[in-house]
Amino acid sequence: MKIGCPTEIKPQEFRVGLTPNAAQEAIAHGHEVIVQAGAGVGAGFEDADYTAAGATIIDTAEEIFASADMIVKVKEPQAGERKMLREGQLLFTYLHLAPDPDQTRDLLASGCTAIAYETVTDRNGGLPLLAPMSEVAGRLAPQVGAWTLQKANGGRGVLMGGVPGVGPAKVMVIGGGVVGTHAARIAAGMGADVTVLDRSLPRMRYLDDIYGGTFKTAYASAGNTIELARQADMIIGAVLIPGAAAPKLISRAQLSELKPGAALVDVAIDQGGCFETSKATTHQDPVYEVDGIMHYCVANMPGAVARTSTIALGNATMPFMLALADKGWKQACADDPHLKAGLNVHAGKLTYAAVGEALGIDG
Ligand code: NAD
Repeated sequence: MKIGCPTEIKPQEFRVGLTPNAAQEAIAHGHEVIVQAGAGVGAGFEDADYTAAGATIIDTAEEIFASADMIVKVKEPQAGERKMLREGQLLFTYLHLAPDPDQTRDLLASGCTAIAYETVTDRNGGLPLLAPMSEVAGRLAPQVGAWTLQKANGGRGVLMGGVPGVGPAKVMVIGGGVVGTHAARIAAGMGADVTVLDRSLPRMRYLDDIYGGTFKTAYASAGNTIELARQADMIIGAVLIPGAAAPKLISRAQLSELKPGAALVDVAIDQGGCFETSKATTHQDPVYEVDGIMHYCVANMPGAVARTSTIALGNATMPFMLALADKGWKQACADDPHLKAGLNVHAGKLTYAAVGEALGIDG
């Protein structure tokens, strides 16, 4: 199969769909890999890294879309890219179709087969191609929160780990899933005093078993939430109710009860945010202040560490990409129901019920 990897064109997207290592594995499986010139630069991969892996560098996205059997990307195809998709071509990338009727219409019209990273499942009921980005965002959250806490950045001027004779920062993490657990581990590693709140008792049992002694857990009742928030230097929002907007767990009125200069890091901003005063920000201008409280609400946090994110995503997508290339999508999906769960569009039809329901289109 000919596998094509174009340069990402969505603004501020520095990741790339194929790493040189993934290209090398595909080539070892007998496939041909074509990569657009400069596609890996944002993630720290030169064209020479791809040619050393056996791939061919191609100048334009047009040439890649015209000849590849499978396109491997990171972000959903942009309008110009969608025009280049062909009938029978396989597209493997993040799609997020439910809130995006224009993209859905174009993919249906193209006749391509599109497998979405975000709906591929695993045997534990998880989402293995979303998890690496949650791990990245979770581990980044205390790092950006620590920067936000610095006085010159508008924060309380509190050091995460304290120093001998001065106590550490108090960090509260709301939501103890993938993002929350990774955030809590890093914050604890920086020396902070960390408490994770969740509403799932099985999850808190698990966290207590594995991380008891590293961080504390508390039930996320409204009462506990505001009581701990009053003491916190940093609050990390990491809740998820699948398929729903994030619940608002701290209201604007409650901001006046928090410590002045406290840092709110709302990782759940891509689901609308879990603080009433959250609004999405960018890496260029990530932090703003409301009622003396600093808010960090970047919706694509993994983009800040494009190299780590690209490699983490590539590690997760590679086995699926190889199965699709080796067997063709039909056989690969027949053999693996978890990969089949990623199938969103085929030959002008929606094949993922939730997207059809969200958009009012029959499958
Ligand atoms: P997850 O499903 O692994 O964890 C979510 C946790 O929230 C679960 O443990 C659940 O029990 C808990 N929860 C649900 N409602 C709660 C409530 N009311 N109070 C307390 N806990 C509650 O999800 P995840 O992968 O950790 O993702 C968390 C959020 O981070 C999602 O909104 C995700 O889209 C977002 N995210 C954002 C970025 C970014 O760049 N901003 C990157 C990755 C993920």
